[in-house]
Amino acid sequence: MRAVCVDEPGGPETLQIQTIPRPEPGPGEVLVRVHATALNRADLLQRRGLYPPPPGESEILGLEVSGIVEKTGPGVKSMFKPSDRVMALLCGGGYAEFVNVPEDLLLFAPPNISISEAAAIPEAWLTAFQLLHFVAHVQEGEVVLIHAGASGVGSAAVQLVRLFKAVPLVTAGTQEKLALAKSLGAAQGFNYREEDYVAGVHQFTGGADVILDCIGGSCWEQNVSCLAVDGRWVLYGTLGGSTVNGDLLKRLLSKRGQLLCSLLRSRSLQYKSSLINAFSSLVLPHFSDPELLRPVIDCEFNLDQVCDAHLHMEANRNMGKIILNVIP
Ligand code: NAP
Repeated sequence: MRAVCVDEPGGPETLQIQTIPRPEPGPGEVLVRVHATALNRADLLQRRGLYPPPPGESEILGLEVSGIVEKTGPGVKSMFKPSDRVMALLCGGGYAEFVNVPEDLLLFAPPNISISEAAAIPEAWLTAFQLLHFVAHVQEGEVVLIHAGASGVGSAAVQLVRLFKAVPLVTAGTQEKLALAKSLGAAQGFNYREEDYVAGVHQFTGGADVILDCIGGSCWEQNVSCLAVDGRWVLYGTLGGSTVNGDLLKRLLSKRGQLLCSLLRSRSLQYKSSLINAFSSLVLPHFSDPELLRPVIDCEFNLDQVCDAHLHMEANRNMGKIILNVIP
């Protein structure tokens, strides 16, 4: 099968399509013929050798796919069968024509969404759902400040906050990104490059009950200033660095704030399986109404354009997800 391989860690030019053996499904695994995968920031780090896959997992990039069930391995108990349209959350292996998936990490692709677009759902939506529902326990009426509100995870989070009857506020780096987030349901958006969003958040509300933060170091002061008393600050990325120089702990303590950190990829199979079950019952059915939930697609590339796709994400140009079609 064709797969994208990285022989030496480095820039996008190190991504090479090679022919490697097609995997065979082991016990409890399902072999998926991949239609599309989608890019994640983790892929850029892994390509540079900075985010290795968990032990025992595929070295091939790609944390999510959509496709068709090709074959089930011995002892598969779930209802998935050949020809089903599926999506999968992976620890790796998505940039390839076939991937083996533990049966618990498969989901049915929503019938009204194209098989290509379905690749945009697993990683971003399961991450956003996990952060809001499993980690922050967002409640109806709460105010949730979402940084990078037009990102893959951010655009999913805005819609989920609305689904949970809470109130999303976003930050983003361009007016176009803010307009997208507002079209998805953000009540207010702040361009962090041009305005003081701490003042903006306080004008809107007493403070954010929850902050979804993938930026980290460069905005810790703003976060602690925006946080409501007893608020939950959920850190899930450090795009803005990881160094904090100042009185974070004193200020967090004065608000009785909670700093919660979360990573999805390194979670156990059992945890991911519960996450997928909860997502399948509470969220997936709502994709039938595109006014309520829809994956946001920035653009699509074919597998042999993988290098351009990585450059596009590295330039922070995307609004929503970048799809990589394995079957053009
Ligand atoms: P994405 O779609 O590529 O969007 C990321 C956006 O973040 C950029 O377009 C840019 O938007 C903003 N950004 C980048 N660098 C920034 C900086 N220094 N300061 C402020 N904003 C910056 O990303 P994604 O795939 O949704 O992922 C978002 C983050 O979530 C990444 O850090 C990723 O690693 C993390 N993640 C974590 C988990 C987990 O389980 N913990 C799972 C999935 C993703 P603006 O133009 O608006 O600045």
